[in-house]
Amino acid sequence: MIPYGHQRIDADDEQAVLDVLRSDWLTTGPKVDEFEQAICAFTDAKHGVAVSSGTAALHAAFHALGIGPGDEVVVPAMTFAATANAVLYCGGTPVFCDVLADNLLIDPERAEALITPRTKALVGVDYAGHPCDWDALRRIADKHSLALVADACHALGGKYHGRKVGTLADISVFSFHPVKHLTTGEGGMCVTDDAGLALKMRRFRNHGISTDARQREKAGGWYYEMTELGFNYRITDIQCALGISQLNKMPRSLEVRNAVARQYEQSFQGTGIAPLARDEDVLHAYHLFVVRVRERDKSFSALRQAGIGVNVHYIPVHLHPYYRERLGTKDGMCPVSEAAYREILSLPMWCGVEEHMEYICAEMKKVCGA
Ligand SMILES: *Cc1c(COP(=O)(O)O)cnc(C)c1O
Repeated sequence: MIPYGHQRIDADDEQAVLDVLRSDWLTTGPKVDEFEQAICAFTDAKHGVAVSSGTAALHAAFHALGIGPGDEVVVPAMTFAATANAVLYCGGTPVFCDVLADNLLIDPERAEALITPRTKALVGVDYAGHPCDWDALRRIADKHSLALVADACHALGGKYHGRKVGTLADISVFSFHPVKHLTTGEGGMCVTDDAGLALKMRRFRNHGISTDARQREKAGGWYYEMTELGFNYRITDIQCALGISQLNKMPRSLEVRNAVARQYEQSFQGTGIAPLARDEDVLHAYHLFVVRVRERDKSFSALRQAGIGVNVHYIPVHLHPYYRERLGTKDGMCPVSEAAYREILSLPMWCGVEEHMEYICAEMKKVCGA
């Protein structure tokens, strides 16, 4: 089966991990700082806080922003459940917003209409790797005094109007799961330009304790204070060494992903396969390549039968049984997301898929091109 996403691990990645295994620090060591600094340099963000997953990063972000019981956070319905789940972890209430039909990104007008006196934050998800309309989201956030969060788990390396993903919201969140652009096995990071938010997230990943083991060792002391309730969301040096090594491949990965996308777009011209819209003034990071097809379920099975591991991203979050029961969400609340969900397929998109492109495009046209 040709998967829809796949990691790429080379000999230099393996060596980087081995070097850490032979060093003194397996966790909370120098590779964590180095990885944070490397992601900051790559994204132009000022502060990075590396954690154990993208989900932990979302949790840390909402915690740092002070989301709590009674607070509402506007999130797009077309996303992975973790975006909304992290609001619930903090005791807040996710409010689901519909997306734009052509690119499945949060609809700024609809988002503004959902704002109430309880709304504390607005979340954009750079779905598939296409940055949201961050200018519009920023205007709304400023007008209503909301925090702006980017779930940029799909968009590492992307750009919006010449500005890099990672600098477009108050906090931006990345995931380093193997299907994402860069992997640490599991892992995630929050980036922000706000030193205060970074400090809060740093404490949160380490039980809410004010200093970490290395700082105490340097100071030669034993004393520390737990000032708030945090978690163990730390990431290891083993993972960060892999991340640093993987980051070297990002420019190439973005090039390959964009070339693969152009090939899909050209191949599907004049067929019944409709790729999502792409703005000219963005650099699309292409975590996913998503198309709409007429008979999605039939196409899905036929393509899987042909060895092409297509997938569906996503079941709109408000349709999950947990959310229906917990928040009373219903069919019809986000009609654009719901209609898109019945038509979308994610096609293989990763570094190395190039050699399969001819076969994938031919099968796509055979199965759903009419
Ligand atoms: C992958 C992903 C997450 C969660 O990241 P994990 O590292 O798997 O916890 C959150 N939001 C979106 C949009 C994602 O794609």
